[in-house]
Amino acid sequence: MEKTNCMLCKEEMDCPEKMLAAKVHICNSCIENISEKDLDNPDFLNILKKLDGTIKGMDKKLEKCDKVANEITNMEFNLFLKENDIKSLSRKNAARKAFTEGSFSTLSFIMFGGMEEEFLDSMLKAMKEVKVQKEKG
Ligand SMILES: [Zn+2]
Repeated sequence: MEKTNCMLCKEEMDCPEKMLAAKVHICNSCIENISEKDLDNPDFLNILKKLDGTIKGMDKKLEKCDKVANEITNMEFNLFLKENDIKSLSRKNAARKAFTEGSFSTLSFIMFGGMEEEFLDSMLKAMKEVKVQKEKG
C-alpha cells in the first residue's frame, strides 16, 4: 500500500500501488460525505470533469460485467443448488448464501485470470474502513 493525498480534503490516504496512476483519489471519508454543497467546490467540479471520461467508458464495461455475471450464473448455479440444501434455509439466508457464493465464484474467476492477491487485501482493508466510517455515523 502506498500513500497519496485525497483530492478533496488533501489528507493523506492509502492507495494500492497499482492505483497510484489513477486520475482521481478521494478518501473514504469524503466519498461518504459527498453532498449537494460539493457542487459549489471547484476541486469537486474538477474531479467530476476528470471522471467524466472514465464514466463514459463504464457503460460498455458494465454491460460486459452483466454478460460475464450471467455466464458465471449459467455455469455455477445448478452446481450450487446440487451442493447446497437451500430449501432448509429462510428466503433471506438462501439469498445471502447464493449472493456470497456468486461473489466468491466471480473473485475466483478473476484470481485465475491473474488478479494479484494484494488486490483482495486492499479490497478487505477498504471495506473495513468503510464499515468503520459507517459505524462512526
Ligand atoms: Zn478526503
